[in-house]
Amino acid sequence: MNSIARKTLLYKTNVEYGDYTINHAKGCSHGCLYPCYAMLMAKRFGKIKTYRDWIKPKIVKNALEILETEIPKYKDKIRSVQLSFTTDPFMCGYNEISEMSYKIIKRLNRENIKCTVLTKGILPNKLTTLSSDNEFGITLITIKDTFRKELEPFASPMKKRIKSLYNLHKKGIKTWVSIEPYPTPNIIRQDFNEILKSLEFVDKIIFGRLNYNFKVSAYKGHKEFFNETAAKVISFAERNNKKYYIKKGTITDLNISKQLCHNSPLYSSAVPIF
Ligand code: SF4
Repeated sequence: MNSIARKTLLYKTNVEYGDYTINHAKGCSHGCLYPCYAMLMAKRFGKIKTYRDWIKPKIVKNALEILETEIPKYKDKIRSVQLSFTTDPFMCGYNEISEMSYKIIKRLNRENIKCTVLTKGILPNKLTTLSSDNEFGITLITIKDTFRKELEPFASPMKKRIKSLYNLHKKGIKTWVSIEPYPTPNIIRQDFNEILKSLEFVDKIIFGRLNYNFKVSAYKGHKEFFNETAAKVISFAERNNKKYYIKKGTITDLNISKQLCHNSPLYSSAVPIF
């Protein structure tokens, strides 16, 4: 695969539930069409020109070398490192990226730095050999593969994605799911309870609405829809003793927001929940 060299790797993210992050590839083969915010930013800042550029990722070939120089600088400040926010660490079809992700996590764990991982690919079983502090997650906005093909054309099939997460859970690994960016019913009609049921085993749920898509604002009642769906997440998580986090801007009902601030220190404090 193509590669690039970078001067820096570890940085503090502005993502609301993140701490430090590593993005060791430019682009992402999954080519999500929500659209992908990372791709929009890469276009805006002239890092890529087209969607075709984006779906041909380039690995950061010197990532492990940079890590050696950056770990001593940041080690005392880091609470956790997330792989990744602007690419996918286990993207389909690029074993080199998955291998590098594994090595990065292993290296950070050696310094007692915990990693959180989020993917739309397949989480390999060998992740169970790493620190038990790590948390592995998948993104999921549907369990219907027909819809997945429309919006995440080159990402992993839903059953396999969930199964890979479940395999880690069975081995005692901490797991989580990011249900985001969640679409309105004019984009897809689906049973949200069924989605939650398929995720009964995870330790933590993050929920956020779809943004940057004209169809959402075209859906009358989209605010109420997101309020109700977020309320379902909260109720499901509280009933099943799971951590949860509702992303900012998803809830516009003041009553639910107040209830969240009382019930969930995770929501009100806006500190990383990992
Ligand atoms: S998996 Fe993430 S980074 Fe990759 S295209 Fe989809 S949204 Fe973008």
